[in-house]
Amino acid sequence: MKQRIVLLGPPASGKGTQAELLVSSFGIPHVSTGALLRVECANGTSVGKEADRWTSQGLLVPDELAIRLITIWIAEHGTKFLFDGFPRTVAQAESLDTALAALRAPLDLVIVLELGEEEICRRIASRLSCLHCGATFSCMLNSLKVGDMCLRCGEKLLRRTDDQPAAVEKRLESYRELTFPVIGYYERTAPELIHRVDASMESDAVFSEICELIRS
Ligand code: AMP
Repeated sequence: MKQRIVLLGPPASGKGTQAELLVSSFGIPHVSTGALLRVECANGTSVGKEADRWTSQGLLVPDELAIRLITIWIAEHGTKFLFDGFPRTVAQAESLDTALAALRAPLDLVIVLELGEEEICRRIASRLSCLHCGATFSCMLNSLKVGDMCLRCGEKLLRRTDDQPAAVEKRLESYRELTFPVIGYYERTAPELIHRVDASMESDAVFSEICELIRS
């Protein structure tokens, strides 16, 4: 079974949803750098304040900050992981490879969730998030609005600042310019690890494809 997995994909391609399903099925420790940053922001830490300057505008935080968070996470949790939202630049991917080589624990799977921009925008426009437990819901599927209770933990649902239309355009730009090349990086350096999954399918179908990749 694969145990060092990177989940790549544009915003709203279902990385968080798939990661949750995978954690409950396989128990692989999961980390989302976006979620780590939101916790830092909510706690008002210096890292959170620095990150908010970038994330609220839909920009990536500096590589050094994202790499620092992941390095601390690996030191605390070890070398079995499902990374969601990391690496997001080629520099981050190179730095991860170097860190894992030093630990003699190379990546064993890179999953790319593929989704067209029209569907990305549609999903983000209908997305409500709980900043308390991290759950996300589609307001269309669940008849919810801002301020309603989270269906999982009961806290208030909000629209993430980076899900506002101006920030979404920036996030898509960051994805095209900085994150998309990460796929090319793995195609060059580790083509046997990379697998593409059509993220426009129902999440159950996406999940079963990913399960096969993890078990194979
Ligand atoms: P996400 O929840 O994965 O959509 O991430 C939310 C925001 O956190 C992103 O739009 C970025 O501003 C920031 N972020 C998350 N992961 C990274 C990363 N690996 N590198 C740089 N910025 C990141």
